[in-house]
Amino acid sequence: MSRPEVLFPLFADLETLDGVGPKTAQALTGLGVEKPKDLLLLLPHSGIDRARRASVRDVVPPTTVTVEVTVGSHFAPRSKGRPYRVMVTDSALEFQLVFFHARADYLQKLLPMGQKRLVSGRVEVFDGIAQMVHPDHVLGIEDAGELPQFEPVYPLTAGVTQKVVAKAAASALARMPDLAEWIDPGQKAKEGWPDWAVAVRTAHAPTSNADFSATAPARERLAYDEFFAHQVTLSLARASLRKAKGRPSVGTGRMQQAVLAALPYKPTGAQTRAASEIAQDMAAPLRMNRLLQGDVGSGKTLVAFLALLVAVEAGGQGVMMAPTEILARQHLAGLVELAALAGVRLDLLTGRDKGVERARKLEDLAQGRIQILVGTHAVFQKDVSFQDLRLAVVDEQHRFGVAQRMELGSKGQSVDVLVMTATPIPRSLALASYGDMDVSVLDEKPPGRKPVQTALVPTGRIDEVVEKLRQAVAEGRQAYWVCPLVEDSEVLDYASAEARFQHLRAALGEDVVAMVHGQMPAADKDAAMAGFVAGRSKVLVATTVIEVGVNVPNASIMVIERAETFGLAQLHQLRGRVGRGSAHSTCLLMYQSPLSETGERRLKVLRDTEDGFRIAEEDLAMRGAGDLIGTAQSGLPRFRVADMERQTALMAVAQSDARKLLHDDPALTSARGKAVRNLLWLLDQDRAIRLIAVG
Ligand code: ADP
Ligand code: MG
Repeated sequence: MSRPEVLFPLFADLETLDGVGPKTAQALTGLGVEKPKDLLLLLPHSGIDRARRASVRDVVPPTTVTVEVTVGSHFAPRSKGRPYRVMVTDSALEFQLVFFHARADYLQKLLPMGQKRLVSGRVEVFDGIAQMVHPDHVLGIEDAGELPQFEPVYPLTAGVTQKVVAKAAASALARMPDLAEWIDPGQKAKEGWPDWAVAVRTAHAPTSNADFSATAPARERLAYDEFFAHQVTLSLARASLRKAKGRPSVGTGRMQQAVLAALPYKPTGAQTRAASEIAQDMAAPLRMNRLLQGDVGSGKTLVAFLALLVAVEAGGQGVMMAPTEILARQHLAGLVELAALAGVRLDLLTGRDKGVERARKLEDLAQGRIQILVGTHAVFQKDVSFQDLRLAVVDEQHRFGVAQRMELGSKGQSVDVLVMTATPIPRSLALASYGDMDVSVLDEKPPGRKPVQTALVPTGRIDEVVEKLRQAVAEGRQAYWVCPLVEDSEVLDYASAEARFQHLRAALGEDVVAMVHGQMPAADKDAAMAGFVAGRSKVLVATTVIEVGVNVPNASIMVIERAETFGLAQLHQLRGRVGRGSAHSTCLLMYQSPLSETGERRLKVLRDTEDGFRIAEEDLAMRGAGDLIGTAQSGLPRFRVADMERQTALMAVAQSDARKLLHDDPALTSARGKAVRNLLWLLDQDRAIRLIAVG
C-alpha cells in the first residue's frame, strides 16, 4: 500500500520547513521528529502568559510581563562582569532592561533610542528598581502580532530553541491537509471532539493552562487517535493470524474426562471456563491466538494440559514451550502424571538432547508416536517436524517478548497458539500489548491455599534469619534463599550466590544447603533441583532462575535478599513459589537500610496483599508502564499524547472500535477505512500498513 498523495507534504524533508537547516533537522531527531508530520504531535507541554499590560507598575514582581515601551538611554558596563543596561519607559513607569555579556552593537540595533518596542520577560525588583533581565522577546511594534497572548512552551533538545521549534511547528501546521474523519462519528459526537486538523491546531495554540489537561477535547482526541491507530494495528495482526486459518480441532472429550475423573481435586470455575473458551477456539476453523492469564498458583498447567488433550483427541499433536530448561523439566514432571491418566505419550526435547537419542525423538515426533512434546526453544529448531501439530502452548510469555510471539505463529501453518503468563497485567497494559489476542483469565485460586505471611527484615538481622531457618529445617521444612541481582550481571549474581551458599553451608550444614544459578553446568543444576524436589536438601540458594514456575509444595519459606532491588511483580512471582503445600508459609523480604520512601512503600504493598493484580496496579502507578515489563523487550508502544496509565477507558473504547471496524471492513476499503489508512501512515504504524498490503 503506497502512501496517499495528500500526505506527501507532511512526509517531505524537515529542511523544507521554515527555519530548518541541516543542523536543526539533525537536532530535531533528538525529539523523535524526522518528518514534518512528527512536529504535528510534538505538543507544547505548558504555556506562558504574554497578555499585554499597560505598565509593569500594575504587576506584583517577580512575574512575567509583556509591555510596550519607549527605549531610553543605554549604559554600557564600566567594568567587566557588570551588566549592560537600557532604560525604557512604559505607559506609567521607567524601568531597566539588563543584559550580561552583551554586545553593544547588537543591543543598539535591537533597541534603538527613541523607538517603540514590545518587550516580554520576567520583571523583578533589584535595589528598589524594576528590571527585566534578558527579555524573552524584543519585537518591533509591527511584528508584535507574532507573539501570542499565551505562548506555548515546547519540549526541547540540545541544538534547538523554543523559537526554532515553534517556527518549524507552525510551518508544519501550515501544510496540514484536511483529512477525512477516521473516528467513528457516534463516538466523536458523544465526546464532542474536534476534527483532526482543528485538534492539532488547537493543541499547538493553547490559550490557558486548562488546555493542557488530558481531558481538553483537542488533546483527548489526539490521544484517542494514537490508541485507535495502535489498536487497529493489533486488530489487523489478530485478523491476519486468524485468517491464516486452521483446521478445526474438535476433541472427543474422552481423554479429558479420564483425567478430570482421576484428579484429586475439582477444577475451579475459572479453569473450567478457560478450558471451554480454548476448546471453542480450537474447534473453530480460525486460528486461535489466545492469552491465558493467571496469577501464580492459579492452576494454568491443568488448563494447558486440557487444551493439549483436545489436540490429541482430534488426532493431532501438541507442544508446550517453556523459557528455561528448568521450567521445561518442571512442566514435564507436572504433566507426566496427568498424561498417564489420559494415556498419552509425552516427551521432552531441549537443547541438551544430542545424537542418537535426539534423532530417535525426532523420528517419534515425525511419526506421531510422541503426542505431546514439552521443551525449550529447541522444539522450534528447523529439523524438528511434527506429524500433525495442532496446538502450541507457550509458557511465561514475558520471557519471550512480543516479537517472538508473532514469529511463533509462522511455524506450523494452522497451529493454534495459547500463550500463558503469570505476570498480572493491569488492564491498560493488557489492552496495549495483547490487544491482538483473545484473553482468558484465571481470576480464582484453587481453594484451601493458605496465605503467605510476609515480613520485612533489615539485612542487619541476617543472623536471626539464619537461626529461624535452622529451626524450620529441624522441623522438616524447606526454604528458598534468593540472592540479589547484581548490576544485571549473571557473573556477579553468581558470585553473590556462591558467597551466600558457603555462608549458609557453614551455618546449617553441608548436606542441608544446595545451590542453583545460571552459570552452573546443566547437569549440576538438574542434580541440585532434583535433590531439593526430593527433599534431600532443605535450603536452595538461587539467583532468580527459580522465579518462574518452579513447584515444590513442601517448600514453605522464601527468603529474598536485597528485596528492594527487585521489581514488585518479580517479588510477587518469587513469593508464589511458597504457599503451595498444606503448611503455613513465610516470606522474608530482606532489605538494606535505609529504605527510600518509595522503596518502603513498594515493599509494604507486597507485605499487605497477595493479590497479583493489585500489586501490578500499584507497581504501574509507582513506576510507569514502560518500566513494568521493561520497555525494550515489551514491545509496548510509546504514545506521544496519550497516557496509557491514566486513559485506560479510552484505550478500551479504541480497542472495541478497532475490532468492530475491521470486522465490518477487513481490508480498510470503505470511506472510513481509507481515512484510517491515513491515520496509520501519520502515526508510523508500519506493521499495520504491511499487513494491509499483504491482505
Ligand atoms: P500456575 O498457574 O502457577 O502455573 P500450577 O498449574 O503450577 O499453577 O498449579 C499450582 C498447583 O495447584 C499445582 O500443584 C496444581 O496441582 C494445583 N492445582 C491446580 N488446579 C487446582 C484445583 N482446581 N484445585 C486444587 N489444586 C489445584
Ligand atoms: Mg506455571
